[in-house]
Amino acid sequence: MTQQRTNGHRVAVVGGGVIALCSAFYLQRRGHQVTIFEEATVGSGASRGNGGQIVTADPLPAPGMVRDALHHWFSPSSAFYVHPRSLFELAPFLGRFALNSNSRAYLDAFNKLDQFNRVRAVLFDELAEAGIGNHFEATGNLRAFQVRETALSDWQAARRLASLGLTQAPGEFLGPADLRALEPSLGPAAQWGFLRSDVRFGDPSKFVDQLHQHLSENGVTINEDSAVTAVAEKKGSAVVSQQGNEAGFDQVLIAAGLGSTKLLRRLGARIRMVPGKGYSFTVLPEVMPTYTVLLGEAHVGATPLDATRLRIAGTMELGAGANGAMQSRIDRIAEAAAPFLGGVDWADIREQWSAARPMTPDGLPYVGRVGRSERIFAATGHNMLGLSLAPATGQAIADLMSGTADDSSLAAFALNR
Ligand SMILES: Cc1cc2nc3c(=O)[nH]c(=O)nc-3n(C[C@H](O)[C@H](O)[C@H](O)COP(=O)(O)OP(=O)(O)OC[C@H]3O[C@@H](n4cnc5c(N)ncnc54)[C@H](O)[C@@H]3O)c2cc1C
Repeated sequence: MTQQRTNGHRVAVVGGGVIALCSAFYLQRRGHQVTIFEEATVGSGASRGNGGQIVTADPLPAPGMVRDALHHWFSPSSAFYVHPRSLFELAPFLGRFALNSNSRAYLDAFNKLDQFNRVRAVLFDELAEAGIGNHFEATGNLRAFQVRETALSDWQAARRLASLGLTQAPGEFLGPADLRALEPSLGPAAQWGFLRSDVRFGDPSKFVDQLHQHLSENGVTINEDSAVTAVAEKKGSAVVSQQGNEAGFDQVLIAAGLGSTKLLRRLGARIRMVPGKGYSFTVLPEVMPTYTVLLGEAHVGATPLDATRLRIAGTMELGAGANGAMQSRIDRIAEAAAPFLGGVDWADIREQWSAARPMTPDGLPYVGRVGRSERIFAATGHNMLGLSLAPATGQAIADLMSGTADDSSLAAFALNR
């Protein structure tokens, strides 16, 4: 589609999560007058309590997922759980997810995310210079397992990705003594593992607050408690509707996480996105790990947020029926994580949180133009990678909306792919 430069126009951004905030950041930088509409408060979706890891782009549908499905997916204590009573509703998603769970599709998705991210690898550094995310640590991700074969297979997979140029080479394979020497805070279940240095981490909530503050100080209007009920193109403008109220803009970006589906459907755009619920909490360890740690067989991440708080995050729960399950889920995560970490009082669990990730069946987000519209765009479906991909997404969509990039730059993430 032909592009026109639209710098200096009035742009509405629907949503106040990390994708919307980073998009607003780059739109404002491109000279647009930006207004954000958030239905609750900024960061109230999945953007604050998440694992806080900035990772290389690793898509979820991966080889072996279908085999795992038969063993684990329907067990309520599993880290990846599908509610049986949602099976009918989830069937189209799960069918496509299964089709994408093979080496070829996995590497193809990895490659697309890598190309997208790699050219924008400097963005977290640039944001840090502006005081946004300057607390993120870059010591890396220690992957710790109980069973040698499981650790070895994870290490070999990391080496394969590195040999294809998709990630940095992992560190050497470590046995119990070396692993403990590297990270003394590990518990008895952490026996084998290795270090991946291409991961940053920190408190995602602080990142949201810093973005919020920067945008407010730089002229972006942020409306909280402002649910958008519809977006439409009318008489040469893009209209944002709220209860009893309509406002016209030159362009609108729908970046409302899971809430995007409904708004897009009203525009005739059907995307495939389902909620994938996850949980987190913080504990106060005697010795804070130096790294963010994957507690391998527990399928749980442990991320130092600051000097005293260690965030424990995990579980992918697809489908309805999760309400009321919070305490049992948190207990399961704590129970699975405990043997991997020493010096933690697991009775003192704080900041319990849960949210749903916007999951897509091919592990790729939707970023681009809505249909053939000149005025309405979308950025959603970031799966387990929203924090990691937020600056790249924000910059890419701002370039498309400003006319400095064309649709082909985002073909891999097209809404109608
Ligand atoms: C347990 C867990 C751990 C995770 N760990 C990581 C990690 O370590 N690294 C990583 O990169 N990612 C991680 N993620 C994924 C990441 O949190 C998400 O991908 C990301 O938050 C998605 O951002 P978003 O802005 O698209 O959506 P959200 O953060 O959900 O924001 C969407 C916002 O839109 C608002 N909204 C919805 N509908 C409307 C409407 N109609 N009008 C106005 N506003 C609306 C909502 O209130 C919400 O605030 C994790 C997720 C979970 C649950």
